Amino acid sequence: MGIKLTNKKKLVIVESPTKAKTIAKLLGKEFNSIATVGHFRDLSKEDLGIEIKEIEGNATTRYEFIPKYELSTSKVVQKVKKELKLGKDNASEIYIATDPDREGEAIGWHIAEFLELDENQQNRIVFNEFTKKAVFESISNPRKLDSNLYDSQQARRLLDRIYGFQVSPVLWKKVKGKTSAGRVQSPVLQFVIEREEEIEKFNPEDFWNISSNLKYKNNNLLLFLNDPKSTKLARYRIFDKNKTDEIIKILNSNPGVVDDIKTSESVRSPRPPFITSSLQQEASQRLSISPDVTMSYAQQLFEGIELDGLGSVGLITYMRTDSFSVSGTALNSVRSYIKNEYGDEYLPEKPNYYKNKNRSQEAHECIRPTDVEMSPQKLKKLISSKLDRKDSLIKLYDIIWKRFVSSQMEKAKYDVNRVIVKCEKNYLDEELLFRIENWKVKFQGYSILYGDDREKSEDESGGSMDFEIGGKVIFDNVDSKYDQTKPPSRYTEAMLVRKMEQEGIGRPSTYANTIKTNLKLYLEKKESRLHPTKLGRAISKFLKNNFSTEVSPVYTTEMEEKLDKIATGDMDWQLLLNDLYTKLELSIKNALEQDRVPKDEIEEYSDEHCPECESPMIIRSTKKNGTKFLGCSAFPKCKTAKPIITETNHLCPECKNGTMRELQGAKGSVYYGCADYPNCKFNSRYKPAEGKCLNDECKAETLFIRGSSLRCEMCKSFQKMPESLKASQ
Ligand SMILES: [Zn+2]
Ligand SMILES: [Zn+2]
Ligand SMILES: [Zn+2]
Repeated sequence: MGIKLTNKKKLVIVESPTKAKTIAKLLGKEFNSIATVGHFRDLSKEDLGIEIKEIEGNATTRYEFIPKYELSTSKVVQKVKKELKLGKDNASEIYIATDPDREGEAIGWHIAEFLELDENQQNRIVFNEFTKKAVFESISNPRKLDSNLYDSQQARRLLDRIYGFQVSPVLWKKVKGKTSAGRVQSPVLQFVIEREEEIEKFNPEDFWNISSNLKYKNNNLLLFLNDPKSTKLARYRIFDKNKTDEIIKILNSNPGVVDDIKTSESVRSPRPPFITSSLQQEASQRLSISPDVTMSYAQQLFEGIELDGLGSVGLITYMRTDSFSVSGTALNSVRSYIKNEYGDEYLPEKPNYYKNKNRSQEAHECIRPTDVEMSPQKLKKLISSKLDRKDSLIKLYDIIWKRFVSSQMEKAKYDVNRVIVKCEKNYLDEELLFRIENWKVKFQGYSILYGDDREKSEDESGGSMDFEIGGKVIFDNVDSKYDQTKPPSRYTEAMLVRKMEQEGIGRPSTYANTIKTNLKLYLEKKESRLHPTKLGRAISKFLKNNFSTEVSPVYTTEMEEKLDKIATGDMDWQLLLNDLYTKLELSIKNALEQDRVPKDEIEEYSDEHCPECESPMIIRSTKKNGTKFLGCSAFPKCKTAKPIITETNHLCPECKNGTMRELQGAKGSVYYGCADYPNCKFNSRYKPAEGKCLNDECKAETLFIRGSSLRCEMCKSFQKMPESLKASQ
């Protein structure tokens, strides 16, 4: 007996094979590790998966909700089940080390219930990073599984299931088959549609800016007339052509005078380290990686990356977080790193502190490197060359590392020189002012590491002249520039994450997936901007009319707050389910009495008619990969279908024979291909534009739009986009 006991090892259970590898390396030979899978036990898929019982003896109807969980029957799970049972029999102690949040706690419960572990046993260990210190600390402080965290997760799971299961069939009857509704998905779809409506309603207004060449002594400086009401650099928008002309007349016939000169010091503070939402936004802006892909890369960095000679190493802290907190150990290491690598002047006297929003979940930390000494350059050398998407992983790590280190560095300091030149004559009682602003870096501070990415104002004048108060200035080449006010811009995925965060809808663990589901069903991404589809608008309108409370952002935000309360033990999860369920019962009854949404509000009709039966053609998408095509509206009577092709007049830069045409790709995306296909296979996912390649050896005659530049797809050179083209974008 005694001999057998010494053979037993301690067992750590995690939910992914990578984590099992990473933790095994940290813990050494005294431990075994087993990986389950995330969806190892879930609500039954047969039906609602929840037993709903009416509770007797209440004034108003109340229900009890009993989840019916099932173990997955997949092969992987069969294998995992055997491993777990065997692991338990051979273990001296069992630790559950699933992710440090509510989802992880729930998986922990499912494992514990499957293994029939005693509820009072302290099996749960929680850590934010795979480091020896963090993991061993958690092992010496195990706790019981937390039923409040579990209930909060169960509540979310059941709310979503009830909502989807009850509301989707209503959509099938009243709008369209094979659609679905999601509790958080619907209010997020509404944000996109509201923005679209703002754009449609938008009436552009004409305005003019006035520019002038300011002549002072022997110097020239081109500036825009400043908004008299603003104390900052801001072009004056004049919404009246006559007034514009009057002001030009005044400037042409009256000199200016240097009215004010001020020099002062300005500082800029570093930005806080990443949390989930800011990481998703920055990865999207700087690296063009979408939120869901960002999360999958971040998860790899957290769970462990194969490094030469080091094995699997967890490189960052847990990536689902809304907290800016930093552990004491990490703070000490980053401070000594800054001191050693950059010197004392870059190290603030006290650590920089970033205040958390009050809705921060649990005891999380910001997203930061687990070892600050692992610089991105060092990682580049160590990362296994066999690793898939190695470069993207390094790039993501690079911004996480830099943002964290810079967040603990000293402020950047600038000398700012501000000059005001005033025309000697006013327009009525309005002063005519030109502002000149010059920022000179005095001390780089944090920006030495993580570029000062504040938006550069278009009016920021780099010109420096030695002005003297009272000096005379001549306004030369006074001119007006016509422009129009612009509608608000459509959301990118990252902007939508920001909106969700601001409204308190969703949590770090759900941002990316909510958008992804909407994209699959009701949104289209064109040049990285989100557009609602016609079906998306019809569904949203129907839900808004019939489930006005349930899909309102306010209600959804309240639900999130209540889920937080459940997690801290301050609310009974059954009450929350009861609230949604009773609301839905009533709304569904009403919705089923409504008329069916007419077909022309759902289908996207094209201008074309069927060549066979002359019925209008409808834009549809294939079930397989969502590629759009034209189908006859008389389907299934008439089965005519044809691809959607839009011709352009841009010549193919490769064969110079065919023209480029817009074609439909998967999931509603478009790409451009040569009309001479299959003789010429040239294609690009970027839009062709008029322009000649400036490279003398290439001279290609069609360029492609890449953001605000043009790129030659033949010689891969970039050039600036002409203003005329920009305006038509
Ligand atoms: Zn037809
Ligand atoms: Zn071609
Ligand atoms: Zn070229």
